[in-house]
Amino acid sequence: MTTNINPFLRVAPADGSANVHHYLNGQFYAGTSRRLAEVYNPASGQISGRVAFATKEEADQAVAAATEAFPGWSALPAVRRARILFRFRESVEKEKNRLALLISAEHGKVLEDAKGELVRGLEVVEFACGIPQLLKGEFSEQVSTDVDSCAFRQPLGVVAGITPFNFPAMVPMWMFPIALACGNTFILKPSEKDPSVSIELAQLLSDAGLPDGVFNVLHGDKEAVDALLNHSGIQAVSFVGSTPVAEYVYRCSTAAGKRVQALGGAKNHLVVLPDADVAQAADALVGAAYGSAGERCMAVSVVVAVGDRLGDRLVQELVPRVKSLKIGSGEVEGKEMGPLITRAHFDRVSSYIDVGIQEGATLVVDGRHWVVPGSASGFFLGGCLFDNVRPPMRIYREEIFGPVLCVVRVNDAGAALKLVNEHEFGNGASIYTRDGVAARAFVEQVKVGMVGVNVPIPVPMAFYSFGGWKRSLFGDHYMHGAEGIRFYTKLKTVTSRWPRTLNPGAEFVMPTAN
Ligand code: NAD
Repeated sequence: MTTNINPFLRVAPADGSANVHHYLNGQFYAGTSRRLAEVYNPASGQISGRVAFATKEEADQAVAAATEAFPGWSALPAVRRARILFRFRESVEKEKNRLALLISAEHGKVLEDAKGELVRGLEVVEFACGIPQLLKGEFSEQVSTDVDSCAFRQPLGVVAGITPFNFPAMVPMWMFPIALACGNTFILKPSEKDPSVSIELAQLLSDAGLPDGVFNVLHGDKEAVDALLNHSGIQAVSFVGSTPVAEYVYRCSTAAGKRVQALGGAKNHLVVLPDADVAQAADALVGAAYGSAGERCMAVSVVVAVGDRLGDRLVQELVPRVKSLKIGSGEVEGKEMGPLITRAHFDRVSSYIDVGIQEGATLVVDGRHWVVPGSASGFFLGGCLFDNVRPPMRIYREEIFGPVLCVVRVNDAGAALKLVNEHEFGNGASIYTRDGVAARAFVEQVKVGMVGVNVPIPVPMAFYSFGGWKRSLFGDHYMHGAEGIRFYTKLKTVTSRWPRTLNPGAEFVMPTAN
């Protein structure tokens, strides 16, 4: 059963037109292109809306609006920008339940998870509210006779964010609160699969007092993305999504002279050492592997069991947990896992189960043919568990992005570390153990960007920075925290002299403090 909470956004018009519009220069705008995408409620399998796709000309309009808004917004004292973000924070908090329902209805994740994503997004807003302190520069007096130096950071101009379907509110909120706090203007190109919450955020920003044109939402597909990547009026691009698109965005944006941070896919390992509390590790694993139906870039998709005895015990603990997952519409209280985002993604994830069987892995729990009563057309896949997975298998190498956990067995901690380090992705990895020395060695030697010790999903808080290594991130800056401030600003260093003596005359040698 689903609840229709927002008829304006959630009922697709009978004439086939789009009802999720762009938000440009403070106005909702239907756009001129006939191109659009259907938005589904993944729990019912029914179309819940249609989103307009932007043309290149509409991308130009978004850049023009953001360019016009930049001088006024960047000149506003940081404390006043912070106050607007603070009011926005308050209204998102107030609207949290409604927004969570909207996220759940388009993405499928369970309500509490949708609220959790909003809270994690709001933490970035809270961090950004400290912008007057965060933008404080450096000053040194008398670096030479009558000469002082100072350094401070200034905004870049118009920046763009291109975001994935799996966190339709949180990932945009990794980007725009910091970009705006620093004085930039922003164009968001959200995922076309669950686009409605971005429009709600735009409205709340406007209600909080954000001037028109400072934050714009441009919906679309590759055509809109390409227009943004190639537009000379955009200074920087933040991207989060799959690795092939992240690499493409990185190459196009850097070729066009832009600063870029492009976060890609993942295959996160959780290593369990023989001394770990196995029941505790199994509890952590079911949440981390099957929460949000595995559609999280920090989901654990591989568990590395050190030692065969531990492997047997772990699988024994996991099986009943995976079989008894409470699966259903995310909008229904008490569910642990919702559907996958689209029918196409459901088919793709299901096909990996066939691949794993063909490759010789042991399918211990088969989640295919899972039926949720009353939601026969929903995109539900039950939890799947593979044992005896080996590194050459595709189900080990490739990101599946669904409720599929692979157990790989190795003989010792060294082999577990080697496995993680040799994988092409390097987003996150965790270790479960009671041995502090082993944990410390893992933290020191593992080649990933975010590490957990007895923590299954080590997502950094907003005041730290989020990002992976290897093919999980293209670019030099991570998201939010100090890295976010650096990404959205450029440094200016000023050297000034107010001479006490009259004109000292021309100097032809390199200036020094002597
Ligand atoms: P995706 O790459 O398909 O789409 C991401 C964005 O790029 C969307 O806005 C989409 O419209 C656009 N896009 C898609 N194809 C494009 C193309 N050919 N050219 C230009 N733009 C294109 O990703 P998704 O399926 O929406 O999200 C899931 C992926 O995102 C997973 O791989 C997941 O690991 C990754 N992800 C990574 C992180 C991270 O922090 N590393 C966080 C969340 C999600």
